[in-house]
Amino acid sequence: MSSTRKLTTGGEVVAWCTRCRLDLVHRIIAMVGGVPVKVECKTCGSHHRYRKPVEERAAEARVRAAAGPSAPGAGSKPRSASARALESAARENERERLWQAKIVGQPAHAFGLYSPRQTFKDGDLMRHAKFGDGVVTRVIDANKIEVLFRDGPRTLAHGLA
Ligand SMILES: [Zn+2]
Repeated sequence: MSSTRKLTTGGEVVAWCTRCRLDLVHRIIAMVGGVPVKVECKTCGSHHRYRKPVEERAAEARVRAAAGPSAPGAGSKPRSASARALESAARENERERLWQAKIVGQPAHAFGLYSPRQTFKDGDLMRHAKFGDGVVTRVIDANKIEVLFRDGPRTLAHGLA
């Protein structure tokens, strides 16, 4: 009776396809806590982590912008706010794509637990206790590295022997 959309493993969900770069129907391969984590694109067949559709994220950003009284230009320029939301979602997808390209398919043993005592080089993989899997994108200096995590780049310490 109720049309509540119950997501289940093996079921379908609209998600952002990191290869097709479109919101498409995906088959859910794995779920954690009622949320899809891994999906298969029904269009290109690729397996990747679940990403919310761009449209949905843009809509959420619009809601946040509308709800936030301190949002710059709130109420005056709804079109540009939604354009900005789409742009930022696209940037996020681009970053996600880069992250996936570096991380997905790497064997689990390639990810050592991050410690600032280690010395890293470009392209090194790590697992951070808080930020998850990451790849070193830049060695800033002898004690600083830039690491791309799923939610964005972060500067971490290294070489603190
Ligand atoms: Zn696809």
